[in-house]
Amino acid sequence: MYIWAMLRTNTSLKPYNTFNIEVFAEYYAQFDSVASLTQLLKNRKDLPIFILGGGSNILFTKNFKGLVLKNEILGLKTIEEHSNSVVIEAGAGMNWHSFVLRCIEMNYGGLENLSLIPGNVGASPMQNIGAYGVEIKDVFEYLDAVHISTGKLQRFYKADCAFGYRESIFKRSLKDEYIICHVAFRLSKQRHNLNTSYGAIEAELEKRQITNPSIKDVSNAVIAIRQSKLPDPNEIGNAGSFFKNPVVPKNNFDKLLEKYPNIPNYPAPNNKVKLAAGWLIEKAGWKGRTIDGRYGVHAQQALVLVNYKNTIGQEILDLSNEIIADVKFKFDVTLEREVNIL
Ligand SMILES: Cc1cc2nc3c(=O)[nH]c(=O)nc-3n(C[C@H](O)[C@H](O)[C@H](O)COP(=O)(O)OP(=O)(O)OC[C@H]3O[C@@H](n4cnc5c(N)ncnc54)[C@H](O)[C@@H]3O)c2cc1C
Repeated sequence: MYIWAMLRTNTSLKPYNTFNIEVFAEYYAQFDSVASLTQLLKNRKDLPIFILGGGSNILFTKNFKGLVLKNEILGLKTIEEHSNSVVIEAGAGMNWHSFVLRCIEMNYGGLENLSLIPGNVGASPMQNIGAYGVEIKDVFEYLDAVHISTGKLQRFYKADCAFGYRESIFKRSLKDEYIICHVAFRLSKQRHNLNTSYGAIEAELEKRQITNPSIKDVSNAVIAIRQSKLPDPNEIGNAGSFFKNPVVPKNNFDKLLEKYPNIPNYPAPNNKVKLAAGWLIEKAGWKGRTIDGRYGVHAQQALVLVNYKNTIGQEILDLSNEIIADVKFKFDVTLEREVNIL
């Protein structure tokens, strides 16, 4: 039957996750259109489903008993075009950075600060990806997703997605219910609203003697900064920031500030303060620690847990639990994982 021709059995997921962890999927299939996806869903019997994009925000801790579906829907479509803005729709299986570069080539602004984030377009609204002061909710227009149990295609606008800091409705009340197939973004065509105030972007532009940057200049600066700070998953297995930056009530922050006058902090809504998880982990003494030379905490970036070689996912998960407990003990701050655990 058609569906069984599309399936592979007992498939290693090592090539499909940036942590480079070996686990196996009982069944594995790729789809490149909504039609082939709905066909797969119709015939999947009762198999549990897991959707895979670029595998750059996942820690696999065990084999998956069920069907792993890899989204390979590609393509770009202009939905609306005005003199100042454009709405462009991308297939969820498209590589995120290639999409950003295509937009920059067409002089569409809004995504330049999000250059070089690994993964695919489809996962970008899942956790409202963000970097250098921009989140995708700032340019998000809509997404189309297939409901797993009914096979129906449904459109979600920004107001439907409950975006928050590395959060959306798809990680909460609608978790594991929808497969995102296309995502549309509203981008600027001229008078781009550049955001260079965050991180080291301004310093990088200055270093390059650029005083009137284009979106391409900002993208190049972001790429250079990221390459100097973050481990390349092609060289060292990792999933980027393993933890979210914690947001704590102002009272708790005031106590920490008395003890640590240099603690990095950023204002957050509702009388709260955002702290830097990397700073807390480093202060707690974890930065650069390795276990058996196989895995550990990255030497330049304490937020990133790394797999040097032959690590199993459970070991990384155990390490993250130790870090969470230690940071809680030393600072009374609870870290939350950003990476999805399976
Ligand atoms: C070196 C490095 C740097 C990073 N830097 C950043 C950063 O600056 N900012 C940031 O926000 N993130 C960052 N990340 C994390 C990661 O790149 C993003 O979370 C990215 O959006 C994950 O995309 P993916 O396609 O790899 O998702 P996957 O890891 O494949 O999947 C992530 C989750 O989304 C679900 N999912 C994936 N695709 C779909 C779909 N089409 N429909 C429904 N569910 C889906 C999966 O089931 C899973 O639960 C970084 C990662 C690495 C390795």
